[in-house]
Amino acid sequence: MENKTMMQFFEWYLPNNGLFWERCCVQAHKLRENGINMMWLPPAYKGATGKDSVGYDVYDTYDLGEFDQRGSVLTKYGSRDSYLNAVRTLQEMGIEVYVDIVLNHMTGADDVEEVLAVENNPFNREEDISEPAVRTVWTKFTFPGRNGAYSDFTWNYTNFNGTDWDEAAQQHGIFLFEGKAWNSETDDEFANFDFLMGTDLDMENPETVQAVTNWGKWYLDTVHPDGFRIDAVKHIRFEFYRDWLRELRTHAQRDFFAVGEYWSSEIDKLTHYLDVVENSMSLFDVPLHFSFQDAATSNGQYDMRNLLENTLLSLRPENAVTFVDNHDTQPGQSLFSFIPTWFKPIAYSIILLRKEGLPCVFYGDYYGIPNDNIPAVPSLKKLVYIRKKYAYGEQEDYFDDASLVGFVRKGDDEHPDSGLAVLMTNAECGSKRMNVGEKFAGRLFYDAMNLAAVPVTIDEDGTAEFYVDGGSVSVWINENVYRDICLNIE
Ligand code: CA
Repeated sequence: MENKTMMQFFEWYLPNNGLFWERCCVQAHKLRENGINMMWLPPAYKGATGKDSVGYDVYDTYDLGEFDQRGSVLTKYGSRDSYLNAVRTLQEMGIEVYVDIVLNHMTGADDVEEVLAVENNPFNREEDISEPAVRTVWTKFTFPGRNGAYSDFTWNYTNFNGTDWDEAAQQHGIFLFEGKAWNSETDDEFANFDFLMGTDLDMENPETVQAVTNWGKWYLDTVHPDGFRIDAVKHIRFEFYRDWLRELRTHAQRDFFAVGEYWSSEIDKLTHYLDVVENSMSLFDVPLHFSFQDAATSNGQYDMRNLLENTLLSLRPENAVTFVDNHDTQPGQSLFSFIPTWFKPIAYSIILLRKEGLPCVFYGDYYGIPNDNIPAVPSLKKLVYIRKKYAYGEQEDYFDDASLVGFVRKGDDEHPDSGLAVLMTNAECGSKRMNVGEKFAGRLFYDAMNLAAVPVTIDEDGTAEFYVDGGSVSVWINENVYRDICLNIE
């Protein structure tokens, strides 16, 4: 069995030339060779901003770049045909495809309606700060450009519970519709964090739930993805996805994988959510991302022994999708918390070379982010490759020093030459004795991160004194792997 490695195949500032699905196909072979066998693709349906939409300002989930709506036929990424072709091409190459779905909110409605609503305090959504009043809201979605194709369902204000714009008054605010409540079990920030943006789907209205369930089945039958990346789960009634996934898995007759985005650094919130949904999905390991950020920004003061504490990787490894950065944390975006350059190879060596968690590599780290002149993370392709071929076997930790920590993988029989030693520091250079196993006695080990470095020889008992430069990571591999990397990695 080969290790699983996911890639988030997009960043925020891709060109809107409609060629991206084709780029997926062109890159697929190289990525598969290097070790990517799961790919998370961006939301494929029409957003309110048409071909400029990254995909999170949902307008019409049935329009995959096929209808003249919101100013264009194509989405930013291309046409429906090129999307379906990309999914099929990736799958034929052995890459599983995970599609991004956003069912919390909709935007860019076709018409307004007048509804009674109260305004809520944005910092305490349970507090009304106005009497009920008539508000003019964008809640009527009729999709005239699609004209009933695939589904004749149209949306009106009864399918939602609130919105953030009164057209007549030209006023921003959080408006809760008369007779509605925010869905009761959601994240409790601001008292109730059901509302995020746009017009919020009321997941306590059976008609709304039916509409998104019908759509989910249509999506499975049309696109045939291997599973889902699910947006904004903390803003949606917690039990919704447990039930939705169960119904869709029954429909598809397979137990497909799903990963949710619950954006919180509080591990207890994530484990609670996993409990409520009965582990029917995994979650991105947001606490680990923030541990990386803390370690990278503490000027060497962070205690590296704590790096993995209170993360999904430690507490719920079976449901952890680990990552370093994503389209929201990159510069200029809503959850900006980009991991500093010097720490990225350290963070990636953790998520890619350890046993626990399913790692997700960010497109912007793999290829760079031209919009911000950010180069690709050095050595990232190499680390993905090492994960694919050599990060196997028993794991032993050496998290025994405040700044200098490491771990080894002892390799297994199934993967020739597998086994490695990883040493990292957020402070000055140093060394540590670690044991990679007696089977490597007498062998030379090289640092894959610095191929020019002097190799070390493994002692009779399998130990050696491995070293690392200041503020960096070293990944020690045997001479056969050294040769493989020199020959095969750019
Ligand atoms: Ca919501």
